[in-house]
Amino acid sequence: MRDLSENHRWLSINTATVRKAHGQDVPLAAIFDACARKGIRAVSPWRDQVAAMGLKQAALAIQSLGLELSGYCRGGLYPAVDAAGLQAHIDDNKRAVDEACTLGAPCLVIMAGGLPGALVGGKAQHPQSKDMPRARAQAAEGMAATLAYAKSCGLPLAIEPLHPMFAADRCNINTLEQALDLCDQLDPAHSGAIGIAVDCYHVWWDPKLEQQIARIGPKRLLAFHVCDWMVPTTDMLNDRGMMGDGVIEIPSIREMVEAQGFAGYCEAEIFSTAWWNRSTQEILDACIARVKTAV
Ligand code: ZN
Repeated sequence: MRDLSENHRWLSINTATVRKAHGQDVPLAAIFDACARKGIRAVSPWRDQVAAMGLKQAALAIQSLGLELSGYCRGGLYPAVDAAGLQAHIDDNKRAVDEACTLGAPCLVIMAGGLPGALVGGKAQHPQSKDMPRARAQAAEGMAATLAYAKSCGLPLAIEPLHPMFAADRCNINTLEQALDLCDQLDPAHSGAIGIAVDCYHVWWDPKLEQQIARIGPKRLLAFHVCDWMVPTTDMLNDRGMMGDGVIEIPSIREMVEAQGFAGYCEAEIFSTAWWNRSTQEILDACIARVKTAV
């Protein structure tokens, strides 16, 4: 297991972690600059932030600041009420693949989607269908189509299982086992073209955690996201904790993924209204401190 206590060379900042400061949106260019000034070597940006900055400008900034990417957030959200809707989502995922390649991302993170029509403009609402098996089949179909395209560009897809509390609106792939079954189905040769993003927040509770992480293997372990689970949790989406403030034994999960050969970035991904009310400096300083002591 790597020693992270000396420096923060293996810290990556998911740009959602610092998308706001003092409650106000922070432009992606300012986030990149702030990370570079703190000696943070990698980031994982979001599509909406990249679109606001401009894809070319974002790629240039990443290059000129010498930043690496630990991922690109995100593709997925496949389920739809009809075939045309599913195809539109697949087309959008192909655009996400292109963007990830332009930015030099090592993988595109895939959040499968929940029930059709349950997430509009990032907000949850009553879905257009309650057929979960069909929604899951559509997610698999969408991923297969995206995978065929991503392979032609050499970009791996990282399926991120989300905590079951998000099954209806955001992601109907809710355990590592389910995600790995899908990897086996879509890529029986274990080529690494499709793998897993392990996010501590979403998988820490799983009784099969150790068993399923052991099943991932080095080729399929594409990203490792860290934050903490607060007790009590006051908001399903935006009350994630800074590493060390909650109940997740993050180092033990890191030990499991590193035992599989993972040697990449620990990506701090913290959606938190409480942290977004602080300054960018404070948030980044806390991530730097905690990656050394609590990851
Ligand atoms: Zn994540």
